[in-house]
Amino acid sequence: MKKLVLLVAAAFMCASLAACGSSSNSSSSAAASGSASAGASASASGSTEADEPSTTDGGTLTMGTNAAFPPYEYYENDHVVGIDAEIAQAVAEKLGMELKIEDMDFSSLITAVQTGKIDMVLAGMTVTEDRLKNVSFSDSYATGIQSIIVAEDSEIASPDDLQGHMIGVQESTTGHIYCSDDYGEDSVVAYTTGANAVEALKTGKVDAVVIDNEPAKAFVAANEGLKLLDTEYVTEDYAIAIAKDNTELLDKINNALKELKEDGSLDEIIGEYIKAE
Ligand code: GLN
Repeated sequence: MKKLVLLVAAAFMCASLAACGSSSNSSSSAAASGSASAGASASASGSTEADEPSTTDGGTLTMGTNAAFPPYEYYENDHVVGIDAEIAQAVAEKLGMELKIEDMDFSSLITAVQTGKIDMVLAGMTVTEDRLKNVSFSDSYATGIQSIIVAEDSEIASPDDLQGHMIGVQESTTGHIYCSDDYGEDSVVAYTTGANAVEALKTGKVDAVVIDNEPAKAFVAANEGLKLLDTEYVTEDYAIAIAKDNTELLDKINNALKELKEDGSLDEIIGEYIKAE
C-alpha cells in the first residue's frame, strides 16, 4: 500500500511539476557510488588490451534509464527505485558487481549503451526490430502494453478514434513510432518525458497520450480528470539492452535472469510494484 502511495506521489510530481524533464539528468548510485565504469568503456571501444578489465570482472555495472516511468523507474528520496532498478540490482549481485544508475533522456539510451557510457539499459525498453540493428537484447523480463489516456469526457474510446486527433507521446518510444506510422507525424507531438505528455493532455494541447500501461495507470491515478481506455493498442516485450559486441555480458545477464525467474525473485520484484487487480 505504502509503495503505491509513494509511486502515485512520484508520478504526480512528474506530471504536475514536469520535474522529470530533459534538464534533470543526474546520476544515482543504487549501491556505493563507484568510480567511472572502466568496464563500460573497455567493452564499448572493443579494445583488445589485455590489462583492461572486462565488464564482468567485478567492478561497476552501469544501468542507463529514464527515471520518469513509474513503477519501472522513478525517484524516491533522490534515489532511482522501481522494478527495473531492483532487477538490475539483483543481476549485479549475481555478477558480483556494484550497480550504478545513470538517469538520462529515453532517446539517449541506445547511443549511451553503444558508446559504452553505460553497460546496459533497463527502462521498460521494448524489443523492436529497429533497435536490434543497434543493440542486443536479453531475454524478456516483462510485458508492456501501449495504452491510451484521454480526458474523462473525451469522445475517444478506441485506437481507431485517434484518427484526426492530436496525440502526445514520449520521444523515441514505441508509442511515438507506432502513432507516427498509424496516424501520421503531423498528428503526433513528442515530449521528453511521459509526464510532460500527460501535462499537455491536461492543458488540452493534445487529445490523448499513448504510453505503456503501468506508467499510464500511475499517471491517471495521480491526475484528476483523466481516464485510461480499456482498449489496448499494442502488446510488447521489455528486455535489457546491451552493446552488440558485449556477448559476455549478454550471456551473464541472461543466466542471471534465468535464475531470478526460476527462484521466483523476478515475480516477487514485479509483485511488489504491480498489484494484481
Ligand atoms: N516501452 C516503450 C519503449 O520501449 C517506452 C519505454 C519508456 O518510455 N521508458 O519505447
